[in-house]
Amino acid sequence: MSMEIVDSLVNMSIKDHKKALKNISEIKIIENDLNSYCEWHNGPLEEADDPSKRFYCPVMSEGFCSKHKRSERAIYNLCLSYRGEKSLEACKEIDNKIKGGEYVVYLVDFGEDLPKVGTTRKFRILERIAEQPHIIATQIYVTDSLYKARLMEINISKNKLANELWRHKWIQTESLYNSLVRMKNYIEKISKKFDISREAEFFRIKQPKINYIQGNIENKELEIKGVWGGYLILYSSNYYIYRESQLLHKDSIFIENKII
Ligand SMILES: [Zn+2]
Repeated sequence: MSMEIVDSLVNMSIKDHKKALKNISEIKIIENDLNSYCEWHNGPLEEADDPSKRFYCPVMSEGFCSKHKRSERAIYNLCLSYRGEKSLEACKEIDNKIKGGEYVVYLVDFGEDLPKVGTTRKFRILERIAEQPHIIATQIYVTDSLYKARLMEINISKNKLANELWRHKWIQTESLYNSLVRMKNYIEKISKKFDISREAEFFRIKQPKINYIQGNIENKELEIKGVWGGYLILYSSNYYIYRESQLLHKDSIFIENKII
């Protein structure tokens, strides 16, 4: 397949993509050795991502390509993913660019001694928690400044009251009681240390009980029914659920010995 065709295919919106897939006899989802494309495609920061409206940047890249590395989306990622001054400068830049933003610092307990601390846009809190294995979660700090949120997150981590780094793991135990005891203990310490007076409300998001797509999906016209919590819900006489990042950021669709 020529690069030109690859470019036009990757540039297609998902709706066009679906139309294109209708006419192809064999489709298989590739799970391993995938290439990543530039992550610029999630739309404006103020709005929830909508994969059905995405346009892809066809440049192969881990993270953002050189053209998009100064986009708001990239700077936001820089703020939340990098450490130290570089990260905080990026957060300030977003505060200057986006007025009226709301950000939440949250804690997630996933069964280890220390909870995980994270920051996200307020409207996305439930979805962000759903993306991560967790027993329970809570919001601990809400602010209109991404800089303040990230600084709070960094300080909580520095004081060893939660882990900032995320090590993906499956939940081994589902003991709500133990989870609540752990979380209450850390919330109390964090509240004292940073003078936060916020009544902690705990919540959890249960994973849907739907079978994952496995193996070939031959002669199927897949319709995107929804997207939430890092998963795409696809339909083709049955409902399927698939990890969004795998299907949409990468060349995970295999067609007639060609990769798009
Ligand atoms: Zn790009």
